[in-house]
Amino acid sequence: MPHTMRTPFDPQEAFRTLQQAGVKPGTIMLRANNCPRCKQHHGQMPFSEFTKPLVVGDREFTHYATCPAAQEPILVKVTHDIT
Ligand SMILES: [Zn+2]
Repeated sequence: MPHTMRTPFDPQEAFRTLQQAGVKPGTIMLRANNCPRCKQHHGQMPFSEFTKPLVVGDREFTHYATCPAAQEPILVKVTHDIT
């Protein structure tokens, strides 16, 4: 029976999906909706992992992508322990 694929903002599920798809480690697919750069909805985008987490002030980011509209970086923090 057909079913609809959910694409929640769930890092663990994203990691699993990528493992199954054989995508290189360090890159994850995340939804970039309400983009912090341009406020558009980009849908699923590949985010690359920083070699070392980037610390900005008291915030830490683990992955980044480039906003296709503004050509500016989108920074996110992905934790592995979200259930
Ligand atoms: Zn954007």
